[in-house]
Amino acid sequence: MSEKFDAIVVGAGPAGISCAFELAKGGANVLLLERGEYPGSKNVMGGVLYRKMMEDIIPDFHKEAPLERPIVEQRFMMMDKESAVTFGYKGLEWAQEPYNNFTVLRAKFDQWFAGKAVEQGALLVNETVVLECIVEDGKVIGVRTDRPNGEVYADVVVLADGVNSLLGKSLGFHKEYRPDEVALATMEIIKLDSKTIEERFNLEKNQGCTIELFGDATKGILGTGFLYTNKDTLSIGVGTLLSGLIEHKIRPYELLEYVKNHPMVRPYLAGGEPVEYLAHLIPEGGLKSMGRIVGNGVVVVGDAAQLVNAIHREGSNLAMTSGRLAAETILSAKEQGDFSETTLDQYRINLMKSFVGQDMKKYKDSTHHFNKFPQYFDQYIPMVNRAASQMFTVDGKSKWEKQKKIWKDLGSPKEKLKLARDAYRAWKVMK
Ligand code: FAD
Repeated sequence: MSEKFDAIVVGAGPAGISCAFELAKGGANVLLLERGEYPGSKNVMGGVLYRKMMEDIIPDFHKEAPLERPIVEQRFMMMDKESAVTFGYKGLEWAQEPYNNFTVLRAKFDQWFAGKAVEQGALLVNETVVLECIVEDGKVIGVRTDRPNGEVYADVVVLADGVNSLLGKSLGFHKEYRPDEVALATMEIIKLDSKTIEERFNLEKNQGCTIELFGDATKGILGTGFLYTNKDTLSIGVGTLLSGLIEHKIRPYELLEYVKNHPMVRPYLAGGEPVEYLAHLIPEGGLKSMGRIVGNGVVVVGDAAQLVNAIHREGSNLAMTSGRLAAETILSAKEQGDFSETTLDQYRINLMKSFVGQDMKKYKDSTHHFNKFPQYFDQYIPMVNRAASQMFTVDGKSKWEKQKKIWKDLGSPKEKLKLARDAYRAWKVMK
């Protein structure tokens, strides 16, 4: 038998690195395998990094991590073809320590974060694809890689291999995901000098802003667009359920071009030069799409376990927390010398008790609901825009007259009833 580790972590994204970091810090002999040339080389995110979950792993990380900008403003645009109703929050408390969230570029950030796991003692091996788990007597005992004599053994294997998790699938932990359980997102990084970014987004030096784009950004298909400020680049992207793209016969890059050229977005990007194009899947099926995440000698973390909160565009933080919690359970299993499913199940219990499990439960029906009733995106957002235009146009008509017209435009009594029912249903799936 070749070399044996306490743990093998497959995949150096936020979930895998967090897990490897904590394991190594706790004294475990850990191997972190990454198929990319370096951690982050294959990874895609809008990308908002959430301070709290990162600080749970590396306190004060913001003092040395390659971050783009601390976010001081979050805007939301409900877009129609030539208009948008915008709302948001700007708070200067987010511009100073301890900060709230940051924009990051994953190619830089993941590389730095993996370096921290290596400093703790993890062994990182890049350019290595894990082909399958080695299973003996119903227990995962290692992995087979694409390297010559590429079998490696461990007491426990952590699957942090991202959204598709072919390894989890081959263990029978989950089925092939349906097109309405995953979103396909495409994005571009646009180079623009930092002063122009600050002027356009009304920011002071080293402050950042995020804008989430709804409605016409996705041509009314369930999904969102996003526009985030980095140091001297902008991240512009759009993601919709794969089923939406198939149904509407739209190619992902066509949707990205559409949102880039939308009159509400174009002025922000003007004069910028695209320097990178990225595309990736996002697991959006929620709790109902989650498969098994614990077995004998194996646990699943991050996107591989479908841990994404699509409503709040959170993923990296769920990934980090799941990686950290998995490591805690593995270290305790190491003390007991027992890596059975029963012992490792403590990870699942802790995860479901944490904000990760709680939020997954809270939004368990949201994707399915909004997918089933497309009127929220393709009818109600245009309706809100028409009402705003009506109310804010000063044309000599009284405000009462305008209110009456808005009310009339909501449609027949039957249509109004449907609207009220949809509002109630939306509240129910989000409450
Ligand atoms: P990943 O980051 O996907 O990492 C998996 C790693 O495993 C990769 O490095 C991959 O190369 C490696 N790997 C896969 N298979 C193998 C194998 N067989 N052998 C070896 N290595 C393997 N989340 C946020 O928190 N904020 C955002 O703003 C945000 N925006 C997003 C925007 C887009 C366009 C997308 C696509 C996602 C966004 N997310 C966001 C979600 C977030 O990116 C994910 O939830 C997060 O990256 C999950 O981390 P992970 O470590 O589980 O998986």
